Amino acid sequence: MSWSIRWKIAVGILLAVACGLLIAGWMTLRSLEQRSLTQFGETLEARTKLVEYVFQSLFHSSIPSVTPSRLQDLARDLGSRYSARVTLIASDGTVLADSAVRDVDLPALENHASRPEVTQAFATGQGQDVRLSHTTGERMMYHARLLRVPHDRAPWVVRVALPLAQVDRASDEFKRQLFLGVGVAFLLAVTLSIWLAHSITKPLSEIASAAQALSTGNSTMRIKTTAQDEVGLLASALNQMADQLHTKIEELSEDRAQLLAVLTSMVEGVMVLDIRGHVLQINPALERMFGISRVEARGRPCAELFRHQRLNNLVSTILQARTPHEDEIVLPLSRRHLHIEASPAGGERDNEACIVLVFHDVTDLRRLEKIRKDFVANVSHELRTPLTSIKGYVEALLDGGKDDPSVAGRFLDIILKQSDRLNLIIEDLLELSKIESGQISLREEPIEVRALVDRTLSTIKPIADRKGHRLVTALDPSLPLIAGDDDRLVQVLTNLLDNAIKYTPGGGTITIRGTPSPSPHTAEPSLNTIDLIVADTGIGIPEKDRPRIFERFYRVDKARSRDLGGTGLGLAIVKHLVEGHGGQVWVEANYPQGSRFVVRLPIKGGKRSLAQWNQDSTV
Ligand code: ADP
Repeated sequence: MSWSIRWKIAVGILLAVACGLLIAGWMTLRSLEQRSLTQFGETLEARTKLVEYVFQSLFHSSIPSVTPSRLQDLARDLGSRYSARVTLIASDGTVLADSAVRDVDLPALENHASRPEVTQAFATGQGQDVRLSHTTGERMMYHARLLRVPHDRAPWVVRVALPLAQVDRASDEFKRQLFLGVGVAFLLAVTLSIWLAHSITKPLSEIASAAQALSTGNSTMRIKTTAQDEVGLLASALNQMADQLHTKIEELSEDRAQLLAVLTSMVEGVMVLDIRGHVLQINPALERMFGISRVEARGRPCAELFRHQRLNNLVSTILQARTPHEDEIVLPLSRRHLHIEASPAGGERDNEACIVLVFHDVTDLRRLEKIRKDFVANVSHELRTPLTSIKGYVEALLDGGKDDPSVAGRFLDIILKQSDRLNLIIEDLLELSKIESGQISLREEPIEVRALVDRTLSTIKPIADRKGHRLVTALDPSLPLIAGDDDRLVQVLTNLLDNAIKYTPGGGTITIRGTPSPSPHTAEPSLNTIDLIVADTGIGIPEKDRPRIFERFYRVDKARSRDLGGTGLGLAIVKHLVEGHGGQVWVEANYPQGSRFVVRLPIKGGKRSLAQWNQDSTV
């Protein structure tokens, strides 16, 4: 059982007080008894002297003989006068007279020579003793004195005894008073000790509960005390400590919150490792990059967690060298390119930041770099082909071809055709570059889809007719007005229809359909977008090429495209213009054959009529 400090103090004080009271009581009692006995003894001695004197005077009186009865009478007389027992003992111990014994019993009385006070009196002149009397059965004090007997006879002893009952009664009364006093004092001590223990331990209990609250993280807890003693000092020291702790915790929390905010908002992935290469911290960006959670990552070895040889090598190198390093890795599944900057952080123990790795996702950068390289290579190639051809035919003309009019005419035709192609490529490139650089600002005006389609068909129809294609138009009568740039949307449709004509063998069917877009979640058509669909019955596009045909210069069949006068830029222009309108474009297979290009455009202005639109615009 563990006692509270309050009870320890209270019981301690009580034990000390009880011991003190007992010792003091016992000593007082003893000294008082001693004093009573001494006083009693002195009184007894005085009476004994008087009795001795009376007996002495009897020997020197004129009465001729001292008979035993005379002695007995005198003893009884003196005994009753002094309320004491008076005994006269001969030198051999025989009792000559005794006030407490009847005359007839006197001869049968025991010899008193061995009584301590008698022995002492014969030896030294006087003696004293306290004991239980055989004769009276009471506790008595005896005082004996030597009595000189005339005629050179052996001396006698006169003894006076007083019962100690009086002294014992006084002593008992004193003991009773003493016990009462001690009891009251003890009760007072109990009350005082409890009060004292309470007043000492109350601030201590408050300090203890404040310390407990502090240990559980409640740094706002304060101890209220007005005490100026050590407890007060302890309380104010604890309060100061709590203040400092509170300030430190707040500072740390702020720092931590700021650090967390920085780490959380960073686009770059951050990972902190300790000296063993175990993960201490990762930020949300890194969680996303590697598809792991902070909880599963913490405390695990980096090598085991990522299982990426190159990353492991980088970590091992910096753990050994302790100098900044960088590297680039490719994630096996997502194929993302990550540039890693690793720097030493100084921690030398387990669970201390030793290395900080910052992961930059450079996938887009690398893709753009590749696109740029491919583009340069493609442009050079595309330009070089007609240029080489032109140069070759010019050289052939110079080498004598010009002298043969039929050859010269054919060569000049080819040169003209290649120049036109060169021109077309440059025009398309310039157009694309203008769109990309934002030099072309798209107007936003109300467009009726039917008018848009009619305008496109007026230029496309003659080309389609030349190849014997059938043009079918299917426009939903409920199509709303759309907001956009009329000329640019005509360009979009023209490019798509031009391709459909080019890549469909003669006598095919090309359909232009216009409908509200189907809603992804319900069977109801969407109210926000419309679909313009150009479908043909041509050669189609293999599924693997479909995602790439909107890239610049990407062609399924380069030779066929060139023969058909294609530049490889038409669909790239379409994609940019459609996205510039906030729309999307993609290609699907057309059943049973051919391709199906879908242009999804937002309505923007909502389902307003042209009249409403014009009315709104004039306001
Ligand atoms: P091009 O000038 O070569 O036609 P585009 O960018 O317009 O360039 O088209 C890119 C490639 O997409 C074409 O070379 C062709 O291989 C393919 N393509 C485009 N439209 C069609 C279509 N309707 N049918 C089949 N293939 C097509």
